Parts: sequence; C-alpha cells; structure tokens
Amino acid sequence: MERLQKILANAGVASRRKCEELIASGKVTVNDEVVKELGVKADPTKDVIAVNGKRIRTESKLYLLFNKPKGVITSVHDEKGRSVVTDYLKDVKERVYPVGRLDYDTEGLLLLTNDGDLAHLLTHPRHHVPKTYHATVEKVPHGAALEKLQKGIKLEDGMTAPAEVEYHDVDPEGKQATIAITIREGRNRQVRRMFEAIHHPVIRLKRVSFAGLTLDNLQRGKYRKLSAQEVQMLR
Ligand code: URA
Repeated sequence: MERLQKILANAGVASRRKCEELIASGKVTVNDEVVKELGVKADPTKDVIAVNGKRIRTESKLYLLFNKPKGVITSVHDEKGRSVVTDYLKDVKERVYPVGRLDYDTEGLLLLTNDGDLAHLLTHPRHHVPKTYHATVEKVPHGAALEKLQKGIKLEDGMTAPAEVEYHDVDPEGKQATIAITIREGRNRQVRRMFEAIHHPVIRLKRVSFAGLTLDNLQRGKYRKLSAQEVQMLR
C-alpha cells in the first residue's frame, strides 16, 4: 500500500505537490469513490485509480541510461518541434522522464526513469550526487586556474562547492584541453560558467559519469536498461 499522491506522481500524472492538489480538489477516485484526504493509501497493483474519470496507468519501474547527443533537448516534448530525448526511445512504452538535465549542446550520460522517488533523491541538492564531465576548453588552463575551481569559484549565483579537477587530454599545440571535472551541485549551465569564470570557455561538454554510473561504450543516441545491481547502488 502506498500513499495516493505518491502513486499518482509515480504514474507520471504530475509532481507530488500537484497530485496533492488534485486529490484535495476531489478529482481523484479509488475504486469509483472520491478520495479527498491526503493520508489515504491504495494498492497500485489492485485498486482502480482515476483522475478526472480517467484511469491511470501504474507501471513497473524502468531505469534507462542514455547517451544524449548534442543538439537534443532534455525534455519529453518541445513546442517548437526540436529534437527531444524521448525521440530516441520510441520503442519504450513506459513514460520515463529525465533525471536532471543536460544543456541542448551538452552530450553524454542522462538517466531516465518513471521512478519519481529515485529521481527526486538523485536531483535533490542535499544528496550531493557526483557528476563528472569532460569539458574541452579553449587553450590550456594553468594549474592555478584549475585550483580556483577546486577551491570553489564565485559565480553570479554564489560560490560553487569544491570540484575535483584533472587534465584528461592536452593538445600539444596548446589550442585546447579536455579537463575532467566532478561537481556535486546542479546549477544551470554550471560547468560552462565555471570555465568562463577562469577565462577558458567550453567548446564541448560531455557528461561521462553520474552517481557512479558510467557511459562505457554505449554509443551516442543509444540507451540501455540499468541492471538491478546498478539500481540498488543508486538508492
Ligand atoms: N553544466 C553545464 O554547463 N551544462 C550541462 O549541460 C551540465 C552541467
């Protein structure tokens, strides 16, 4: 048995908060009875739960690791018809949602799931989930510049937490370098802004690791299901 708002949120109806509002406003029925109290529990595998008279689908949990190409929006729908991540998941029947987001021009590891609880856990700033990026930047930053990122650097929206930084690849001609950077925050365009702050703008950004998961040799534009052990590791 689970709380009704949790069942609704997990089924992708809306956020937990919004689902509470739907319940309180009498829009939700369990076995044809309107339920307005928030504490009520139901069995998603047996009870017939409906919102505005429409039965919700209670699906099994699915966890996908996707290698997002650049030029794709981290969203399930785009008003302007641009390419979105779910365009690459046409054979997935469950309604999965991205866990956090990558910029349009960022590529790499993106997790998608219909498990609202886990998505919440992984995106909540309090949990400090590590995310590693390969940032290819203009010119080769000196150690002192990288040290600033390690210590924390001042951005418009405040100091960043210390980051782990190391050289991954350095162009012998000195035109560019790829830096592996691990952050535990998830501010908007954070990695790009951190490198802008040390005057080494990002040319290419790829996320190679998220919460201990790695891309390995998953091809760009492809996805795979997480194993039970991997899901266990995330909790
Ligand atoms: N930092 C960025 O700047 N962009 C991303 O897509 C992710 C992290």
